[in-house]
Amino acid sequence: MNKLLKTLVFQNQISVSVLDTTDMVNEAIKIHSLSPVCAAALGRTLTVCTFMSSTLKNKGDKLSVTIAGDGAGGKITVCGNGDLQMRGFIDNPQVQLPLREDGKLDVGGCVGKNGRLTVVRSMGLKEPYSGSSKLITGEIAEDFAAYYAFSEQQPTAIALGVKIGKDGKCIGAGGVVLQALPGTDEGILVMAEDVATQLTNVSTLIEQLGAEGLIKKLFGDDITYNEYQPKYECLCSREYIERVLISLGKKELEDILEKEGEIKVDCEFCSNQYVFTKEDVEKFFN
Ligand SMILES: [Zn+2]
Repeated sequence: MNKLLKTLVFQNQISVSVLDTTDMVNEAIKIHSLSPVCAAALGRTLTVCTFMSSTLKNKGDKLSVTIAGDGAGGKITVCGNGDLQMRGFIDNPQVQLPLREDGKLDVGGCVGKNGRLTVVRSMGLKEPYSGSSKLITGEIAEDFAAYYAFSEQQPTAIALGVKIGKDGKCIGAGGVVLQALPGTDEGILVMAEDVATQLTNVSTLIEQLGAEGLIKKLFGDDITYNEYQPKYECLCSREYIERVLISLGKKELEDILEKEGEIKVDCEFCSNQYVFTKEDVEKFFN
């Protein structure tokens, strides 16, 4: 089961989130047939975006994140909402790269370090909020920490990890995010940084301890927290695809039918295929 544990630490000046996203990453691997390095890149992004979605004010608010780097994997897109229903894809999901010298998956090579990270938050009827920053290493955690520092002026320490077993399945994925609340003392910030720098192998810690074990290891057995259950869930539907098709116009759809016989639409987030016949299209415009 995926888990997100949230609480306040260090005199209530730092919000801490501990995530176990192992099942979410396995769902993404199953849907997209991800190579190990792509599973790590998309998995880390899904993990940090789950944290970001948990900071949305209302359940109906939406988050959309793109990482457009110059690496072999291409662009990464992840969406989520305040209910922590998460989904995502990477443009070249089967890319393979040699391991780094330290034996880890080369996520930086998959994502690339030249490019931009863009975050869009949609809140009901208000104008969407959009922020963006340059990629730093393409390793995801550093890139999001830089995004929070530059684009939102919010000191944030992020550790993310995805561990893939020999059979290609994820055996441990998750993260720890420490975020300073406004007006946090300098000394407390240093303490939070210290916690984050200990977390060099968060995927192994999640594999061995789970989210509860990890938050207790970091902050003691007496720590209390709120628990949430994020999941990989696509929100596409036949009705939604119909609305998109209708917006293309009757002529355009008739041209496709002429050439292809029917209209096939694949959802990029869940690989579901929707098929529309000539009769379906006629009904759209009646
Ligand atoms: Zn879908």
